[in-house]
Amino acid sequence: MENTKRLFGTNGIRGVVNKELTPEFATNIAAAIGTFFNRGRIILGYDGRVSNIMLANAVTGGLVSTGCDVYNAGMAPTPCIQYAAKNHRMDGGVMITASHNPPEYNGIKVMARDGVEIPRHQEVKIENIFFENKAKRVAWDSIGHVHDLPRVLYEYKEAVKKHVDIAAIRKERYHIVVDAANGVGGLVTPYLLRELGCKVTTINANIDGTFPNRPPEPRPENLQDLATTVKVAEADFGVAFDGDADRSIFIDDKGEVQWGDRTFALIEKDFLQTNRGETIVTPISSSRVVKDVGEKYGGKLVWTEVGSTIVSFTMKKLKAKLGGEENGGVFYGPHQPVRDGAMTTALILNIKAKTGKQLSQLIGEMPLYYLEKDKVKCPNEQKALVLKRLTAEVKHLSPETIDGVKLWLPDKSSILIRPSGTEPVYRFYGEARTREKAGKLVKEYKQKLHQIIASL
Ligand code: MG
Repeated sequence: MENTKRLFGTNGIRGVVNKELTPEFATNIAAAIGTFFNRGRIILGYDGRVSNIMLANAVTGGLVSTGCDVYNAGMAPTPCIQYAAKNHRMDGGVMITASHNPPEYNGIKVMARDGVEIPRHQEVKIENIFFENKAKRVAWDSIGHVHDLPRVLYEYKEAVKKHVDIAAIRKERYHIVVDAANGVGGLVTPYLLRELGCKVTTINANIDGTFPNRPPEPRPENLQDLATTVKVAEADFGVAFDGDADRSIFIDDKGEVQWGDRTFALIEKDFLQTNRGETIVTPISSSRVVKDVGEKYGGKLVWTEVGSTIVSFTMKKLKAKLGGEENGGVFYGPHQPVRDGAMTTALILNIKAKTGKQLSQLIGEMPLYYLEKDKVKCPNEQKALVLKRLTAEVKHLSPETIDGVKLWLPDKSSILIRPSGTEPVYRFYGEARTREKAGKLVKEYKQKLHQIIASL
């Protein structure tokens, strides 16, 4: 029987610490997670947030109370814990992180033995155990053990290096600036880059869960210090992570923020040049440049709903080797089918070393699209009907209806109209070869949506 209450969102359980996310709650949900994993071996990791030790201890208590053994890997990037789950043959894992959310938040992410998040139907099982109070607490002499797993940062760094041409990169002696947002990204990538022969300049690289210097979300407006540092230092590029270092956004040698879909398209192009015909998995919100590059270099594009776990699940199902999101999430299957900031940085370096070109030049060689965004208010209960009407109205344009309505228009422009999952609005993402055209497109479809809503 499915519960009506829901704890897991699109990226695990998230909440404000000591409001929704108390130690008592963490222990109880961990007991439900432990019951689900049935006395298994569970890896536990956490990012650099203020509340992490409190929650890690609470989660440990809940897990061992059900007879699970906990392997505490300590503070690390999310992709590092995901890699370690697989590498150390765990039965599952728990990562305590709220990724890019503000400092008062934290979260609990549950992963399967391969490090990928568990699918929704398994989350439902854990929710049911929690809400029905069915956690199986074991007898005193069967309580699980707690072990340390001290070398995961090193093992992860070595694993990433296996996928790039170390000698070719080392020869170039690149200068890279890393902005870790005072999150866990600073624990791996600066050292990885140094071992790849780079000169590394770091900003916001000390761990500080109050995020004193910039918000942990790598949005362009939060990356001006990094852009300035890249320019002043005349570095080859800069890379910025979110709080748990699974997403990465790059600043080119000219100090320009290159949004995630452009760097993903660059990785896609390089990948397809040596892996023609391979499948590329990407959410429908990705830029047209991902489609252009995919088609030009013989890739098989698979569009998905928006959400990083959906990309991971689709990659696993199709045995795809590459996935990417517009927000800087790149999934490199040969390493692991989850987004991974250190891996992405290494791939960009690899492309630079292979081509001998600067990042601005590499990105300049791909088609440039301008993105315009907007939104229109729409009551939640009308969203489904609005979508149906809209789809019918644009039927002649062969809409893609995986998630909202996406139109690939003949003049190379495109528009995505999508109901927000969290707010009573429809969102518009218009793309075209000029900013004016993108703006016009958004305006046109906003009008259409207003008309549909008014007619209901
Ligand atoms: Mg993240």
